[in-house]
Amino acid sequence: MSFLSVDLHSKTYPNSVCAAQDLRFAAKQGEFIAIVGPSGTGKSTLLNLIAGLDTDFAGTISYPPQTTLSFMFQEPRLLPWLSVADNIRLVLDAPQHCHDSARLARMDTLLQQLGLQDFRDSFPNQLSGGMKRRAALVRAFVTQPQLLLMDEPFQSLDEPTAQDLRQVLLKLWAESQPTVLFVTHSLNEALLLADRVLFLSPRPAKVILDYRVPLPRPRPQATSGLQSLQAELLHEFPALLSGLLTPPTFSQPHSP
Ligand code: ADP
Repeated sequence: MSFLSVDLHSKTYPNSVCAAQDLRFAAKQGEFIAIVGPSGTGKSTLLNLIAGLDTDFAGTISYPPQTTLSFMFQEPRLLPWLSVADNIRLVLDAPQHCHDSARLARMDTLLQQLGLQDFRDSFPNQLSGGMKRRAALVRAFVTQPQLLLMDEPFQSLDEPTAQDLRQVLLKLWAESQPTVLFVTHSLNEALLLADRVLFLSPRPAKVILDYRVPLPRPRPQATSGLQSLQAELLHEFPALLSGLLTPPTFSQPHSP
């Protein structure tokens, strides 16, 4: 039985740009789904629609009422004038997450777990890029989301830091099992993290391949299974990351 169901007939912006058409998929509770597609196809648009940040579309998107949702963006989006702890408390102040002691205790546990306990009173400009992402992860998980939307959250980090954060994310996901939609450009990142990868076409976005990752967990970053799976997929679908299942064919000029 699906937790999230997306049946998007179309999403057209007022400037007539059509960002998605006939885009359909469903996700089970606790499933980790990566979304991979060419730049500008409509991945951020899709997450915004699912989050309800944009309600102007044709079709239906459904998940249970009262679902707790977190959104983690490409930039950590910490308010610079608030400490790490106050940035996190901010989401606990939302009316639906009244500031109870259990949630504050959960914040402390997460800060500890992610190695930020000594930085709770630091300001964002005193943190490294990796630590800011850790703070954003604490903020995303502190409300115990059932649906977690992640829009290239580890973009623009050096690879060792990104690798480290992927493992942190997997641990947090395994503990509380939210349904995750994780947008990424990286096939390697998608295959490392996800149960399923949805590959999207060029704009307007639709799902061209719904791929179940056949690797057992845990999946170490350097596992050869990951590398060979990636090579196999790209061998079978060389233009997959451009959003095409079959590469374009160019007609040969006729010889005189
Ligand atoms: P992706 O996340 O896959 O890079 P986006 O969802 O950001 O793609 O954008 C999909 C398309 O919609 C792009 O052509 C983009 O220019 C356009 N677009 C995104 N947001 C808006 C907007 N608010 N108004 C008009 N066009 C937009």
